[in-house]
Parts: sequence; structure tokens; C-alpha cells
Amino acid sequence: MGEREASGTRPAPRSARRAPPGGREAGGPQAGPGPGVARLAAEEPWIRCRACGAGVARPADRIAVGGRHRHRFANPYGIVFEIGCFAAADGCLAVGSPTEEFTWFSGHAWQVGVCAACRTHLGWRFASAAGGGFFGLILERLVEPPAA
Ligand SMILES: [Zn+2]
Repeated sequence: MGEREASGTRPAPRSARRAPPGGREAGGPQAGPGPGVARLAAEEPWIRCRACGAGVARPADRIAVGGRHRHRFANPYGIVFEIGCFAAADGCLAVGSPTEEFTWFSGHAWQVGVCAACRTHLGWRFASAAGGGFFGLILERLVEPPAA
């Protein structure tokens, strides 16, 4: 008996490349940049974590809460934070149990939000009792994408 593979855990290498619909190439001597390149260039820029550079939220996720995107609040220790509100922040992880103690948005419980990549404290996630929620991210801990 020879060696056998350990059961199950072999990664199956597989190419996910797909030809563009329509099949045949239109006879030019050289195709232009592949579909991957074009898509990368068109991709929306990210607002990034200042500490590690990971993408945190997209500019399109910015929302106004109570009529404003930016808010200034002090925590119970007197530290002032300037935050921006985001409907979603894919790179921000909400940690801990939600609490309404000292909440800045009435009716909303908050959790600490950290960078999913480096765990730097980036802000808070606010969840309303009604089920909605948003992120309030500390603007000075983020890097805006270069203006297009
Ligand atoms: Zn980070």
C-alpha cells in the first residue's frame, strides 16, 4: 500500500476564467486588456483604514443621519470624535454587546467597530430598536480615496 492523501482537504485548483459572452474574438491582431483589467480600473475606490490601508467603506455608503453626514460627539471621558455616517462598512467589524449607555443617537444601541484587518478602533455601529443600523466612523482614522 502506498501513501494516500489525507481525506478531503486537498484544494482543488480551478481556473475561474471565463470567456466573454459572444465567444469569438473580433479578428484584431491583439486583444486589448483582459476583462479583469478593465474591471479593476472601473472599481469604486475605498475609504481606507489609516493604520493598515485596508478598505473599510465605499464613498457611496455615506449617508446623512439626522440631516448630516458628519457629527461631532464627546464620549463620557471628554474625548471628542468627528464621525461620518455610513450605511455599510464592509471592512469594519462590530464587536462586543450592543448597549444604549451614553449612546449618541437616541434609540440606537452601539457596538465598537474595529478594522477587520488590523483591529484598530474605527468607530461604532449603531443599531436601532426597529432593526435599522449604520456605522459612525472616526474620520481622522480613515483615508479618503483620491478625488477622481
Ligand atoms: Zn486597519
